[in-house]
Amino acid sequence: MVNYPLIELQHLDKIYQSGDVVTNVLKDINFTINRGEFISIMGPSGSGKSTLMHILGLLDRPTSGQYLFNHHNTTELSDDQLAALRNHDIGFVFQAFNLLTRTSVLDNVKLPLLYSKDKERMDERATAVLESVGLGHRLHYFTNQISGGEKQRVAIARALVNDPEVIFADEPTGNLDSKSGNQVMQILQELNQQGKTIILVTHETFTAEHAQRIIRIRDGQLVSDELVPQQRLASQGQVLK
Ligand code: ADP
Repeated sequence: MVNYPLIELQHLDKIYQSGDVVTNVLKDINFTINRGEFISIMGPSGSGKSTLMHILGLLDRPTSGQYLFNHHNTTELSDDQLAALRNHDIGFVFQAFNLLTRTSVLDNVKLPLLYSKDKERMDERATAVLESVGLGHRLHYFTNQISGGEKQRVAIARALVNDPEVIFADEPTGNLDSKSGNQVMQILQELNQQGKTIILVTHETFTAEHAQRIIRIRDGQLVSDELVPQQRLASQGQVLK
């Protein structure tokens, strides 16, 4: 696979202003993420991780600096163009799952397809991604009838159904017991081995060390950007069927 830059940040700043109070939440952030990498973004609570993830995921804009996503200069794009890029190229997985309740597992995963240009064979495609995360037997369950680990696997299937370039996972194991959390991390590792770019936001070292590279931020500044030594990479199992 050719490793070209998927994400390039140059002198990125994010400032919130409310009345006279100015908060400089991200300060001069610079880094590049290549296609096919598995990256963790770490930092204590309040360090700016979510703000950074929202900007990287095209849900928010920087105050200044450059953000190139897949060679698009995002600062020059309209809100509609950003939304189109986001729907096509990005999948999100959140700590709280963000699934529709009293809606079937299959319908939750089909949802992004309703907003995409390609509406062919929606049932078949959603079923295939659910089978790939081991949930072929849960298609017609409501999401309030399945376990937390299964909910997060539904969320991963929903993130995958449009075959995005990159998956952003914001504390994906935060609401899970350790066994379900390990399963979720193994699925993310296997997706990365299949070529997906994965960007994980976490405050836990063990979770972060499933990635190949860790970017640490503190008080809105990048403090380190290091490869995880091969021997410390958290274990890689086989969970995808
Ligand atoms: P983390 O995800 O690392 O916990 P956040 O990105 O949520 O950090 O927040 C970083 C800082 O930015 C915090 O001090 C937070 O209070 C502040 N912040 C986040 N969103 C806003 C906002 N909309 N207006 C003002 N300050 C904000």
